[in-house]
Amino acid sequence: MTLPTIDAFPERYHFRFCPRCATPLLRTPLFGMERQRCPACSWVHFPLPNLAATVIIEYQGGIVLVQRDIEPDRGIWHLPIGHAEYGEDPADAALREGEEETGLVLATPRFLSYVHSPSYSDPRLFYLVLGFARAIGGELVGSDEGRNTRVVPLAALEPLKWSGQQAALEAYRRFRSQESEVRSQ
Ligand SMILES: [Zn+2]
Repeated sequence: MTLPTIDAFPERYHFRFCPRCATPLLRTPLFGMERQRCPACSWVHFPLPNLAATVIIEYQGGIVLVQRDIEPDRGIWHLPIGHAEYGEDPADAALREGEEETGLVLATPRFLSYVHSPSYSDPRLFYLVLGFARAIGGELVGSDEGRNTRVVPLAALEPLKWSGQQAALEAYRRFRSQESEVRSQ
């Protein structure tokens, strides 16, 4: 597989100066590829994918969806999702985003899946999306941010647009069918 070189990095990774000491960065072969390095303090740029977490919330016989209110993809229905904060366990990020977007109180989530893929808004920017699932109690009061929410039975879900959410849903369906096999034995 061919990895992106410095010039193919997303706009936000086009660094000219060292973020620690403001010295102009140099390009140098290091650990198997060309990298940006600071000649003054030796800082090296190791770009990472954005880390996001999504969560499948079971509620009153269905799955909770929220409606996106910003571009790109404004108006689509999707599973709660958001960026993990630095130092935050992705499972905690999934719960936090789920709670913020629905008003529900969630319990410890089960890990389902991950997807590593380019962002829809910038194909040079990679995302690592972890999928979780959790059953909940409480009441669906809607997002703090005023986002629309709805509950759709699993069997009636329209295909989700984002690959990280498709993978989570596929893993969730497998998990549910294994669970019902165990119950019927
Ligand atoms: Zn420096």
